[in-house]
Amino acid sequence: MLRVVCASANPHKVAEMVDLMGGVVEMVPRPSDVPDVVEDADTLVGNARLKAHAIMSATQMPALADDTGLFVDALNGAPGVHTARYAGASATDADNRAKLLRELSGKSRGARFVTVALLLYPDGREIVAEGVCEGTIAEFERGARGFGYDPLFIAREGDGRTFAEMTIEEKHELSHRGRAFRALAERLRS
Ligand code: IMP
Repeated sequence: MLRVVCASANPHKVAEMVDLMGGVVEMVPRPSDVPDVVEDADTLVGNARLKAHAIMSATQMPALADDTGLFVDALNGAPGVHTARYAGASATDADNRAKLLRELSGKSRGARFVTVALLLYPDGREIVAEGVCEGTIAEFERGARGFGYDPLFIAREGDGRTFAEMTIEEKHELSHRGRAFRALAERLRS
């Protein structure tokens, strides 16, 4: 099985990746001595590439990275690539959600999550897969699971619950990250 170093140090995300890609690749944890990458590209694929490249260079092994953005129609696609730091450089998830609710007051609620998953080999080849989850932004927070904007995001193909009201398995079925990693796993299998 292909051994792949995971570019994320976030245990939440690593667990999701193992869940979604297990059976296709063997996931090796990110070495703790690799410094964090400044994610300053202006696209999701650009940021995923920056993260994968840093880990691949440090380990000389294939590296797997992902980058996600929330694109809100009434905000002309914001926060987009700035999703993690929407309310400022040191903003918490709760700060970001509060800002989103303020900005969307009285506006239409259509939005989508997009994830780019990127596998970079030491010889420079890369495999890129994208996952999109269409949905709406709730009027107020609901649910206690998940992270980030989960208490505010209602997937169009779901049953009206927010991601934060779903089990992780239910979320994976519908989510941007689930779709991106399943697509990447499919590309690797074929
Ligand atoms: P990242 O590229 O995976 O670090 O995601 C950027 C930001 O998007 C995170 O800081 C979260 O706020 C948000 N985000 C990413 N994935 C999700 C998700 O599945 N649910 C809710 N928020 C997410």
